[in-house]
Amino acid sequence: MFRVDRPSSGPDVAAGPPPPPENPWARSLWLDGVVQGLTPREQLSGDHTCDVAIVGAGFGGLWTAYYLKKADPSLRVTVVEAEIAGYGAAGRNGGFVSSGIAGSGARYARRNGWDSVHRAEREVLHGIDEIGRVVSLEGIDCGYNKAGALTVATTEPQLQRVRARIEAKHRSGLGAEDIRFLNPDECTEFLRGPEGLLGASYTPHCARVDPARLARGLADVCERLGVKIYEQSPAEHLGPRLVQCRNGRISAEVVVRATESYTIRERGQRRKFLPLYSLLIATEPLPQETWDELGWRDGIGYSDIGHLFYYAQRSLDGRIVVGGRGAPYRLTKPVSPENEQNAHVYERLVQTLHEAFPAVAQARITHHWGGSLAVPRDWCMRTTFDRDSGLGFVGAFGGHGVTASNISGRTMRDLILGHDTDLTSLPWVGHHTRNWEPEPLRFIASMAIHKTLASADAYEERTGKPAKRVRLVAPFLPPGH
Ligand SMILES: Cc1cc2nc3c(=O)[nH]c(=O)nc-3n(C[C@H](O)[C@H](O)[C@H](O)COP(=O)(O)OP(=O)(O)OC[C@H]3O[C@@H](n4cnc5c(N)ncnc54)[C@H](O)[C@@H]3O)c2cc1C
Repeated sequence: MFRVDRPSSGPDVAAGPPPPPENPWARSLWLDGVVQGLTPREQLSGDHTCDVAIVGAGFGGLWTAYYLKKADPSLRVTVVEAEIAGYGAAGRNGGFVSSGIAGSGARYARRNGWDSVHRAEREVLHGIDEIGRVVSLEGIDCGYNKAGALTVATTEPQLQRVRARIEAKHRSGLGAEDIRFLNPDECTEFLRGPEGLLGASYTPHCARVDPARLARGLADVCERLGVKIYEQSPAEHLGPRLVQCRNGRISAEVVVRATESYTIRERGQRRKFLPLYSLLIATEPLPQETWDELGWRDGIGYSDIGHLFYYAQRSLDGRIVVGGRGAPYRLTKPVSPENEQNAHVYERLVQTLHEAFPAVAQARITHHWGGSLAVPRDWCMRTTFDRDSGLGFVGAFGGHGVTASNISGRTMRDLILGHDTDLTSLPWVGHHTRNWEPEPLRFIASMAIHKTLASADAYEERTGKPAKRVRLVAPFLPPGH
C-alpha cells in the first residue's frame, strides 16, 4: 500500500505512487484504519490437539470458526494464520457485501439443476442480511450499511449489457424488487453522474462495509467465543488430521483449508487458481459540500459495466474508494507484495475517478493498495468436506467472497456436524474444478484476456458498438461476461 500526501492531479500523479508504508501489516486503507491496532497475536509453537483446525484467518476461515463455535461451544476450534487475521483479500477488498452468486449458474445447473441455482441466488440475498445480523448481534463496528448498489452504463453496448443482466436475473427467479433498470433521471435519487450516463441497474441487495474492521472484529468475536487464533504461523503442510507449522503442529479430527489465492504458493497447488490482482485508490475524506454535489446516498455501492470494470464506494469516513480496471499478472511471482503497487494502474484509477466524479478532481489521493482474488478455472466457488479424511475446503470465491464466505462458513459448519440442511445441497457443495493450464499458458491467457478487454472497452467507447473480440477470450472469463 502507498500513502500519498499530495494533490492527485498534475505532475504528482505522473510521478507515480510513493514507497510502501512503515507498518508492514497496514496493507490497505482499511487495515491502516483499524482502530484497535494490528499487533500480531501469539504464534503457534509445540504440539496441540483440537477438534477442528482451520488454516487461514480471512473471511472463509473466520466465518467457519464462528458458526462452528456458535453451534457447539464445546468444540475445540483453532485457526492458524500465516500473517495476521484479515491480512489477505478480506482486509483489502472493495467492501461490497454484494448479491450475485460466485460462479456460473449454467455450470452449477449442469450438475444440480436450475432449482438449486435459484435457491443459491436467494441464499446469497439472505447472506447479506445474515452478515448484518451478526455484525449487529456481536457489536462489530464495521460501518455495515445496506443501501443497495448501482451498476452504470455510459456507452450503448454497456447499456445493452445492463439490460441483459437484469433480464437474466429475472429469468433466474428474482423480481423487479430485487433488481431493476433506472434511467439517468431515476439514478439521481442515489448518485449524480457519471458524465454521459445512459442508465443503470439498481439492486437494494448490497451493503457497504469496512472489510478490515469486519475481519478483525470477527476474529475478536471468535476469540471471545473460545476459538484459539495463532498468527504469524504459516502452515507448511496440511493433511488428514494434521497441520504442520514451522514451530509447532496441530492434530485435529477435521482440517479446513481457507487459504484462497495464497494456496498457489504451496507445492502441488500452483495451478489451483489464477491469482488475479485488483488494485484500489482512496481519496482523503471529502467535505459535506462535495457529497452534496455528488448526491451520493451513503452506503450505495457503485460500479460500471465496462469489460475492465471499476467499482467505487463511499467509505465510512467519507472517502471515495475506487478499484478495478485490471492489473498485470507476473509470471515469476504471481502472489507477492510487489504486485500490490503499479504506477500505470494507479494513474488509470485516478483518471477514472476524475472522469466519473469531476467534483473530486482536487481531492488528495491518500492510499493505493491491492490484493489478489482466487479465480478457479471455471470461476465457480466450492465448499467441500470429506468425512473419511476429515479435510474441508472453503473458497474459490473470485471477486464475490464477502457474502459467499459467510454462506460457506455456515455450510462447512453443517457438513462437519453432519447436518443435512438446505445449505449442504447448494450447487457449490462438492463442486469440482479442474486446474488451470500450466505456465506459461496461464500467464499468456491472462495477458490475452487483459489486452482484449482493454481494447474492447476502447473500441466500444469509440464506436458505440459491441466489441465482438470479447468472444475470443470468453472461455476464460467470469460468468455472464
Ligand atoms: C482488491 C479486491 C477487491 C475485492 N472486492 C470485493 C468486494 O467488494 N466484494 C466481494 O464480495 N468480494 C471482493 N473481493 C473478493 C473477496 O475479498 C475475497 O473473495 C474474499 O475475501 C476471499 O476469502 P478470504 O477472506 O477467506 O481470503 P483471504 O482474506 O485471502 O484469506 C486467506 C488467508 O489465509 C492466510 N494463509 C494463506 N496461506 C496460509 C498458510 N499456509 N498458513 C496459514 N495461513 C495462510 C492468508 O494470510 C490470508 O489471511 C475482492 C478481492 C480483492 C483482492
